[in-house]
Amino acid sequence: MNTFTTLFLVFLVISYAIQFWLSTRQKSFVSSHRGAVPDAFTNTVALDAHQKAADYTVEKEKLGDIDSIISIIFLLLLTLGGGISLAFKSWSSFELSPMLTDLGAVATIILFMTIVEIPTSLYQTFVIEEKYGFNKSTLGQFFKDQGISLALVITIGMPILALILWVMDSIGSLWWLAAWAILISMSLLMSWLFPTVIAPLFNKFTPMEDGSLKDRIQSLLTRCGFNSNGIFIMDGSKRSGHGNAYFTGLGNNKRIVFFDTLVDSLDEEELEAVLAHELGHFKCKHVIKMLIASSVLTLISFAILGWLITQDWFFSGLGVDTHSNAAALLLFTLVSPVFTIFMQPISAYFQRKFEFEADDFASNNAKASKMISGLVKLYEENASTLTPDPLYSAFHYSHPPAAIRIAHLESKM
Ligand SMILES: [Zn+2]
Repeated sequence: MNTFTTLFLVFLVISYAIQFWLSTRQKSFVSSHRGAVPDAFTNTVALDAHQKAADYTVEKEKLGDIDSIISIIFLLLLTLGGGISLAFKSWSSFELSPMLTDLGAVATIILFMTIVEIPTSLYQTFVIEEKYGFNKSTLGQFFKDQGISLALVITIGMPILALILWVMDSIGSLWWLAAWAILISMSLLMSWLFPTVIAPLFNKFTPMEDGSLKDRIQSLLTRCGFNSNGIFIMDGSKRSGHGNAYFTGLGNNKRIVFFDTLVDSLDEEELEAVLAHELGHFKCKHVIKMLIASSVLTLISFAILGWLITQDWFFSGLGVDTHSNAAALLLFTLVSPVFTIFMQPISAYFQRKFEFEADDFASNNAKASKMISGLVKLYEENASTLTPDPLYSAFHYSHPPAAIRIAHLESKM
């Protein structure tokens, strides 16, 4: 066994051990706080809603554990088990051009990965979500969504991959700079196209009707000096009872989207506060900061890959005997999460910092009390636990835990 194989296995064990340990903590913390609504919420959340959230959280966590086990097995089968090598060998036996061989092999692996994820995804939607009354989807809808996603991978993902592989082959040792530039431009283009081209493939977006809610939102937007390309209601209820609101798009192609489920459950002032929070993410430059951070990380990753691709041990250490650029790209994408798990709590920390800043913005431009009551309704209706394990939430949560977030908002009242 070469040293890199050992290193890979050590990191694999460490990263999954951390995940299982945190998950065990989360399940036992949530279960042990199931008996009573936390003090801060005794007047606003009923005991049965609190218990439903606890049960729902624990069940999802258990499914997550199974999902992790499947991922470990699959990752080992693809790498040390020879799956990637087999895919490349099988495709080269068709004697196609090198480019088509590479694309075929990568597509095969992506297809397998999609298929492997279907059972847990089905269980999540049609067993867990169904049991807690969130699922509104049908099997037909589910497979239609999978089909559209796969079609997008083939029509958009494959040409981008082909372009990157071509650059890797023809530019020389600095290919990774060009590949990075391609990937970043494509992801900016996708973000820009998302609201008008991609999102409508999955959902229907209806412009918000004139009336008091729209007037209220319009005046918030004017107050904050924000230009958007329209306010839309999305038929989220077609798939799920969970509610949300978000901003999407870039530059002049920005849209404000409310899930129909959210509009049904929050009052107008609460919706205004939730939207003010989302505006806060733009006004505090969170979107641009995230974009810059991810561009820098992508550049570093490509630079590392540029070096790894010249090292024999990188391939042989991961059980691959095909020294092709496509195999390197695939290996790197599959294996790097194992080595970068320590980045997860850092990124979660910054995301939570941004949430506090956006809440401050919401308190200044709408009513903090309405942000709180809106949040409590969202926690209750989404069955989000009010009592997460402190270490688990520090590691995984992109939003501050309910009690901390609400205490912060109360300090702004
Ligand atoms: Zn936010």
